[in-house]
Amino acid sequence: MLAELIGSERTGEPLLMACAITEPEAGTDVEDPDLLARARITSHARRVPGGFRLSATKRFISNGSVARWITILMPTDPRRPAETWTCFLLDTRSEGFAVARVEHKMGQRACPAAELTLDEVFVPDERIIGREGDGAAATMIVLACSRPPVAAIATGIARGAYERVLGWLEEDHAARGLLERQHVQLALAGMEEEIHLARQLYMDAATELDHRALGGVMSHPSVRALGHVPGSIRRRAPVRGWLHSDRARDATVALLHRTTSERAVTRSLALSSMAKAHGGDVAMRVTGAALELVGLRAGPVRAELEKLWRDAKLTQIYEGTNQLNRSEVYRGLCRGEAIGCLPPLRRVQLDCEGGRP
Ligand SMILES: Cc1cc2nc3c(=O)[nH]c(=O)nc-3n(C[C@H](O)[C@H](O)[C@H](O)COP(=O)(O)OP(=O)(O)OC[C@H]3O[C@@H](n4cnc5c(N)ncnc54)[C@H](O)[C@@H]3O)c2cc1C
Repeated sequence: MLAELIGSERTGEPLLMACAITEPEAGTDVEDPDLLARARITSHARRVPGGFRLSATKRFISNGSVARWITILMPTDPRRPAETWTCFLLDTRSEGFAVARVEHKMGQRACPAAELTLDEVFVPDERIIGREGDGAAATMIVLACSRPPVAAIATGIARGAYERVLGWLEEDHAARGLLERQHVQLALAGMEEEIHLARQLYMDAATELDHRALGGVMSHPSVRALGHVPGSIRRRAPVRGWLHSDRARDATVALLHRTTSERAVTRSLALSSMAKAHGGDVAMRVTGAALELVGLRAGPVRAELEKLWRDAKLTQIYEGTNQLNRSEVYRGLCRGEAIGCLPPLRRVQLDCEGGRP
């Protein structure tokens, strides 16, 4: 699948992916391992020979209607969702998969959000990402990685609003004289300050992630060596077989445990959450302040700012609402806790402890 994705990039016709977690009755609750146990989940993956049959409705899935592949999370035992939350790689050409509807969005309309239904869709064992039951921990690592980019999107929206309103104040005759007024100057300075801080926060979160939380695993000699193995060798059946084996998955998890810790990833997740929540709020505040400066005066610039304001709202919602993100900040930074961010160690740990590679 990764070869297909990379190949499509090379030919200039990229394949899109989506990630489906949210359900009609479970949004915030499925983005946190502690809340998962009480979430009103209706999806279920049923074990069958050679794989699983997936039944689910997933809601608000960005790119869900245009994705070629979807990582989709659900429990294999609905009575124990937190322990059996599992990530599957779903081929959207599979029988039983359907796009039920595409939402009429307020902002970020270039990215469709879709409701997806799965009716007993078969997914083979080799398309489980990680191991059965690793989904909750994997989601935390994914969110630690994906929240700084959302913060960057939010900061970009704020910067777009700031630059447009500044350009309008400097150049448009309808704004003549406004730049001389102190309240306008202070509003602009406030926007510049907010954008600068939002940018610093996501850079800080990304640095923590790259250099502390996951830096060890990414720079580990075995991971680097794998990157140098030619594609012609990686595609050979025995090598592919090993790379897709439980043993390889367990070795990856063991490496994670050796190179990082629950505490380091929880702290990193908290910083990512802080950047995301702050960035989303800054985007709303700056686009709102820019609109207030323009008031009812302007023509095209007002329409552009209104669009940015509508785009900004989503950055407070997806990748976890800002309330959920601030809960992560409380746990990871105020309380210094360590939550279950790493998939559990399995057999390979015993092998390593016994001295075998
Ligand atoms: C346009 C769009 C695109 C999206 N894309 C995706 C996607 O690609 N994949 C995906 O899986 N999901 C996606 N989502 C879903 C998004 O992650 C959820 O909307 C979000 O997690 C909130 O869930 P909810 O809508 O069910 O709201 P709820 O969970 O019902 O929350 C409602 C309100 O209650 C608050 N709240 C809930 N629980 C708590 C709590 N424990 N503590 C404090 N406050 C709480 C929330 O902060 C919120 O303000 C998308 C959503 C939108 C709108």
